[in-house]
Amino acid sequence: MMNICQSCGMSMKNEGLYGKNKDGSVNIDYCKYCYPNGEFNKFNETFDEMVESCIPYEVKEGFTEDEARKRLIQNLRILKRWR
Ligand SMILES: [Zn+2]
Repeated sequence: MMNICQSCGMSMKNEGLYGKNKDGSVNIDYCKYCYPNGEFNKFNETFDEMVESCIPYEVKEGFTEDEARKRLIQNLRILKRWR
């Protein structure tokens, strides 16, 4: 089973992409970009800010900005961090 970061929705295809807890152990819920060392990289980031920051990556995949925003709102709002 492939884990998806419960903050940004990125697929974590290998352990190197997982986040880290304060004690250095692997955190399987979040990716290394969102959760590098026991806390969120941007701890006070809002849901809307996360959606906006992910849009360029979706656009690179071929979606328009509007499509990307809709997809991200749907995909991210079910994740643990944003529930
Ligand atoms: Zn992430």
